[in-house]
Amino acid sequence: MTNADFRQLWLCFGQAAAQNKEELNRLDAAIGDADHGTNMDRGMQKVAEQLTSCPPPTLQATCKMVAMTLLSTVGGASGALWGSGLLAASKVFPDMDSCDDKTLAAALQTFVSSIQQRGKAVAGDKTMLDVFLPATAELSQEVDHAPAASVIPPIAAEAKQWAEATAPLLAKRGRAAYLGARSIGHIDPGATSSALWWDCLGRVMGSSK
Ligand SMILES: [Mg+2]
Repeated sequence: MTNADFRQLWLCFGQAAAQNKEELNRLDAAIGDADHGTNMDRGMQKVAEQLTSCPPPTLQATCKMVAMTLLSTVGGASGALWGSGLLAASKVFPDMDSCDDKTLAAALQTFVSSIQQRGKAVAGDKTMLDVFLPATAELSQEVDHAPAASVIPPIAAEAKQWAEATAPLLAKRGRAAYLGARSIGHIDPGATSSALWWDCLGRVMGSSK
């Protein structure tokens, strides 16, 4: 992945956050405090501003800038999880213009491990990890045999289904966990925004082939 592709990924996610702001708020209203769309949109618009006005020169610098911006602008658990996860991932990305596929997979794996440690969630807890865990597991496995540019788009195409599959789950983490059985029947907003992120990664990698 090149730094230009990585920048494009975040610009795409910023557009997706803006377009889906109301939908994410609506999903969060059912099992949380109705602000996930507003929070992610606020953070991502700030990221887009920074990427446009003074784009960081390397993958590591871009990842770190996105992390710090989300940490300082996104409220709630999402900002802390995305921000700390990306800060951990920034240490895996090289301080260079591009990285190979295995480094990209390792950086995403580090992002996920950091979020698991911080949020203490496991697969099936109805969180963003219900998208990120299967996606990064598939990526790490397949990147040994095929280029990321051909492996990522089909993984990204599955992400929306993984998000939708959180509907029947009982929330075990975050604010939704207080609802207990009443959380059942609602799609997790964090898993939904995570699927939007994977959709963007799929587009960017697919077009960089
Ligand atoms: Mg919320």
